[in-house]
Amino acid sequence: MKGLMMHRPLRIADILSYAAEIHPAAEVVSVRTEGDVHRTTYAALAPRVAQLAHALRAQGMGLGDRVATLAWNGYRHLELYYAISGIGAVCHTINPRLSPEQMLYIIGHAGDRMLFLDLTFVPLIEKLKDHLPAGLRLVVMTDRAHMPDTGFDALCYEDLLDGQPAAIDWPEFDEDTAAGLCYTSGTTGNPKGTLYTHRSTVLHAMMLGLSLPAPLQPGLRILPVVPLFHVNAWGLPYAAPLTGASLIFPGPALDGASLFNLMDAEHVFSAWGVPTVWLGLLAEIRQKGRIPKGFADVVVGGSAAPRSMIAAFEEMGVNVCHAWGMTEMSPVGTQGNLPPHMAGLSLDDRLALKSKQGRRVFGVDLKIVDEAGNRLPHDGIAAGQLYVRGNAICSGYFENPEASAAAIDAAGWFGTGDIASIDADGFLSIQDRAKDLIKSGGEWISSIDLENVVMAHPDVANCAVIAVPHVKWGERPLLVVVPEPGKSPDRQELMDMLGQHFARWQLPDDVVEVDSLPLTATGKVSKLTLRQQYADHRLPEAG
Ligand code: ADP
Repeated sequence: MKGLMMHRPLRIADILSYAAEIHPAAEVVSVRTEGDVHRTTYAALAPRVAQLAHALRAQGMGLGDRVATLAWNGYRHLELYYAISGIGAVCHTINPRLSPEQMLYIIGHAGDRMLFLDLTFVPLIEKLKDHLPAGLRLVVMTDRAHMPDTGFDALCYEDLLDGQPAAIDWPEFDEDTAAGLCYTSGTTGNPKGTLYTHRSTVLHAMMLGLSLPAPLQPGLRILPVVPLFHVNAWGLPYAAPLTGASLIFPGPALDGASLFNLMDAEHVFSAWGVPTVWLGLLAEIRQKGRIPKGFADVVVGGSAAPRSMIAAFEEMGVNVCHAWGMTEMSPVGTQGNLPPHMAGLSLDDRLALKSKQGRRVFGVDLKIVDEAGNRLPHDGIAAGQLYVRGNAICSGYFENPEASAAAIDAAGWFGTGDIASIDADGFLSIQDRAKDLIKSGGEWISSIDLENVVMAHPDVANCAVIAVPHVKWGERPLLVVVPEPGKSPDRQELMDMLGQHFARWQLPDDVVEVDSLPLTATGKVSKLTLRQQYADHRLPEAG
């Protein structure tokens, strides 16, 4: 028997309408590419989003049309998120750190009809202009006064909005209508597109609000360092307006000093981003001898947060929430705030738990399986391939049947490519991406576990452990270390530290010092690049 309740389709536009009415004064503060700081509110943003929606329609955009963005975190990018999806078109965010070839590939694969770009990216488009699809309309996200001379035909964002009606009746369509498109960074092969729906996006925002009630609250100020141009800034553009939290957008400057100053000036309560960003902020905090005013919470994800980083923040009184997810999961899968009954544990025990990747949020099911696909127990010991299922997890890739078939198992679960264990309390522990695991003599060595120990050495600023080919063992671990300025960590000391936690055969065969580690387009350490760089490295014992 079916129930008798209304079926109102979930729509992204309703989030902003709600925020404008219920949380009208919550702020959106943006460091602009024009060089100044811009302030607005959800109430003031809504009419501009309506104007933008009318402008998009005037350009012929409607249901299913792909409209691309190439932009930093700022209010105009947020307006695009809502206006594009609001009219039933698809907001395709492009990661500017992709290579030009990858960028051209995804613009073509997505079939983009318009591309909105920040001033910063005008030179990039100048270079690519002859290779862009004919008919792709380009819009520079600025006002008339700042409009640059471009060697390509370009519209001006604020001109488009000018004179358009400031109210709109958002159209109704099926809640499974595509709303957003984000390509994975494609470290191997071509990028693959995750196509979000209105339903998945609204549900994800709701579950994020439920799962992270500490930062997502009216009056609290959140800094998404995680970009709007990738993985939906972890869902914040939707979850923050929904819950009434204010958004502080950092624009292009993401170094420690710029972040510190912005957080300090804007009293940011919670900041979200990948570990590499927090290394910069922590260095700045140490130099200044204090934390930014009002800073109380940090959400770290995208790659494993080292235990030493978690300890550093917690010792400053900043709560660390270690989260895990991926583009294909909208992206948040787990969050690591401890339940109340664990709050009284010793610092050591809390750090051990927080070094894990947290527990699933509502709407995400997790399973780990062995190589034959058999489910493994959630006992904190058994480790296997991690699969996920849920309301905001992709069922396939955009126009890519081959990759779609490979990603989903017979029971309809999505294969994450991660190797993990899950303990009896539900804490997920990511051992590695399957492709980053080191397979030595038929045994696995977790690079994340080794890095965690090395990062605690005071002379180490950053590090990565990678597999290098070995005649006898197949692969052996190599430790690549970035020393703190002016320091050179003692090799034996590092080995002794590791020796306290690992068996001899798990220890790196060699240590190399470098000035910096290569990063991926999403700001994570690129182990693929490192493996290529050190493919011919001669390990001492290999003779
Ligand atoms: P990209 O592949 O472009 O970097 P994603 O953000 O989708 O983009 O990457 C998802 C992957 O990042 C996960 O499958 C996992 O391997 C890794 N990851 C994300 N969060 C964590 C975390 N907290 N700890 C360890 N690995 C993580």
